[in-house]
Amino acid sequence: MRTALSNILGEYVEASDLTHGDTADFQVVCPCCRESVFKVARPEGRRRGATFFSHRKSTAETEECERRVASLSRAYVAQVNEAARGQTLEAFLRVLPAAISLDRVFYAGRDPDKVHRQMQGDAGWRFLTGMLVTLVQQPIHKDPEGRLEQTVLRCFRSLDERADEFHSAYARSFQSRLAKGIYRYLQGPEARPVLERAIRHVLWGRYVYIGQAMADGTLTEADKGVRDVLATITLRDDASRLRRFGKLMWAPDPGSLAAGHHPVSVMKAFTDAVEVDLVFLLLRLPYRRMAENLAQGRKPLDSLEPCKIGLFGLRSSAEDGARNVEAQSMPARPRPPVKEQTGHLLSLHVAPAIRRFG
Ligand SMILES: [Zn+2]
Repeated sequence: MRTALSNILGEYVEASDLTHGDTADFQVVCPCCRESVFKVARPEGRRRGATFFSHRKSTAETEECERRVASLSRAYVAQVNEAARGQTLEAFLRVLPAAISLDRVFYAGRDPDKVHRQMQGDAGWRFLTGMLVTLVQQPIHKDPEGRLEQTVLRCFRSLDERADEFHSAYARSFQSRLAKGIYRYLQGPEARPVLERAIRHVLWGRYVYIGQAMADGTLTEADKGVRDVLATITLRDDASRLRRFGKLMWAPDPGSLAAGHHPVSVMKAFTDAVEVDLVFLLLRLPYRRMAENLAQGRKPLDSLEPCKIGLFGLRSSAEDGARNVEAQSMPARPRPPVKEQTGHLLSLHVAPAIRRFG
């Protein structure tokens, strides 16, 4: 048979889309007798390259199964799959904030809720969060599908090198379908509180990462705009921060100018980076294991371990970075005003500022 059923997704799957490993990972069974199936190449004489599913244990009913599966209409399969996908997405959306909290490498043992409360109490972080929420929630028609798709592909290229669980095309397509579904949900007005949390989460991850890259001397050209925006947050009084944000909005990025590229505002580079971080976060959530829990009647996040790969796909170095900032605490209230630094933004010595704030 060419079509079988994934027990954990409640969806029909095509043999041509799956690898051998996928049939086990997604618990693929015969839709009629629910016997597990495996993937085999077409016998001699048939079209080369075509594949199909075969029962693990052939019984008297196997032939009847084959006949009934072959008679399933495409429309019926599509209808079942659409309903199953809708249910899965809905179940995942209900636990989204907790699912995001599985990604906690950068919190370094801190209580994420406490970090978020501190960020909410700070004018600079609130400004950045609000700006990014507005950007993500722009009407979808202004942001053609191609853009999200490209971001997803870009993130996968970076994930592929590090995450074994996305080894197959089917695993990647399942993962990106969920990530895109959740991203579209986050663009709706009712999702605003969850989106704010997700944005603060990736902002915090960027912040820790940049602080670490500066300490290690591994800051890239692309990171510098992000550093400038984050350094602005660490200015001590709100008036100077707002002035600095205003300048950043319109300042051409000197790196792009030197390279002969069109001027790109630092803020644009920053928002692009955070948008990628958000997609990257959604792509790394353990959807398959969440679906497995659901299929067994458990809650989606039951006994799921926190993500092992942090933002930016960093494992050990992210953990080291998190350790480095662990001893430092975020100020809960504005610090006393100091004289605003003058000179070019990129010449600001922000490392001490970021580390102090870390
Ligand atoms: Zn069967």
